[in-house]
Amino acid sequence: MLIKNVRIENSEHESDIRIEKGIICEIGEHLEPFQGEERIEGQGGLVLPPFADCHVHLDTCLSLDAAGPNLSGTLFEGIRVWSEYRKQIDKEEVKERALRTLRMYRKKGVQYIRSHVDVSDNLTAFEALLELKEKVKDEVEIQLVAFPQDGVMTSEKVRRNLEEAVSMGADAVGGVPHLELTREYGEKSIQYIMELAQKYDCLVDLHCDEIDDEQSKFLEVLAAKAYETGMGEKVSASHTTAMHSYNNAYCSKLFRLLSMSGINIIANPLVNVNLQGRFDTYPKRRGMTRVKELLENGVNVSMGHDDIYDPFYPLGNGDMTEVLLMGLHLCHMMGYPELNDSYRIITCNGAKTLNIKEKDYGIAVGKPASFNIFKEGSFFEVLRSREGVQYSLRKGRIIDRK
Ligand SMILES: [Zn+2]
Repeated sequence: MLIKNVRIENSEHESDIRIEKGIICEIGEHLEPFQGEERIEGQGGLVLPPFADCHVHLDTCLSLDAAGPNLSGTLFEGIRVWSEYRKQIDKEEVKERALRTLRMYRKKGVQYIRSHVDVSDNLTAFEALLELKEKVKDEVEIQLVAFPQDGVMTSEKVRRNLEEAVSMGADAVGGVPHLELTREYGEKSIQYIMELAQKYDCLVDLHCDEIDDEQSKFLEVLAAKAYETGMGEKVSASHTTAMHSYNNAYCSKLFRLLSMSGINIIANPLVNVNLQGRFDTYPKRRGMTRVKELLENGVNVSMGHDDIYDPFYPLGNGDMTEVLLMGLHLCHMMGYPELNDSYRIITCNGAKTLNIKEKDYGIAVGKPASFNIFKEGSFFEVLRSREGVQYSLRKGRIIDRK
């Protein structure tokens, strides 16, 4: 297959891309088509590596009708509504909702997804998504995080479920240190989770400091452990919204530790601007971690949709440019270069967060031919037009087109 006249990652020059056996075998100008070779006319459009959603809950997505609304809009009501509903979910129902969600993602050019899966009560949803992950792997790469929504120090059963999910094949161990009963339990939970991850050689991704409490400082504990154990880039902290409320002197110290540790931060702007600030009168905090400053300090930041039409967030359609745009607005990242380069947050920064091997991701000769083609010539114009992906290719196969 030959893709003619595209601009790779905002390049000013147009190139052609040739694909053979699912691999990019040639990139150059004015490549001549072979006889009978399939051809896509790029017409000067942008080509980007596939989008990565680094934080979603496929087990909760599209459950709003069945689970019921969250009237206060707080995280705590969301958890209460979900906790009631999760008692009655069954495997097929989870799979059906997740599959519908994955179809939405496919339309939006998302080929990498990290999903947390609540294992507090039982492993029903985890088993469902483990089966689904295998079934859909030709279209999307899914990582599963065994997620103890109620905390790990609260019950022996949760710890048992967590370890069982990890032994069954979870890619990462999850946690919620800020929701443990006490600060000490929060610290212990991080220790427990890091040890579990080391035992099974898997990744770590914690819901960390997802609260407007400036006293919630588990990120430093996690980063210090990531640094000491050398697990560094295998560790991610999701949300970290308390950072919004930390003082600048503390942040300056924290950024040094974060950058030393190599830990990844995952921001979830759509959901956190909805859930956070709910205990404020005015002014109301935005509940966003400091994306701009983290990036300036060399910390890898990616983003996640977190929730789609569920008790935590009533909207969403799997569009990572929508997630990104909300984040860019909230973080004052609206200068032209920031907007134009921001695709990295939802592409290569995401791939780094997910520990995707360098040989498997990106647009270069020898790598899998997985990428999205847009009509517009730059990412700035993609954000402006919001027309979406024209073609989505995975390993040389067109998996979606407009
Ligand atoms: Zn989450």
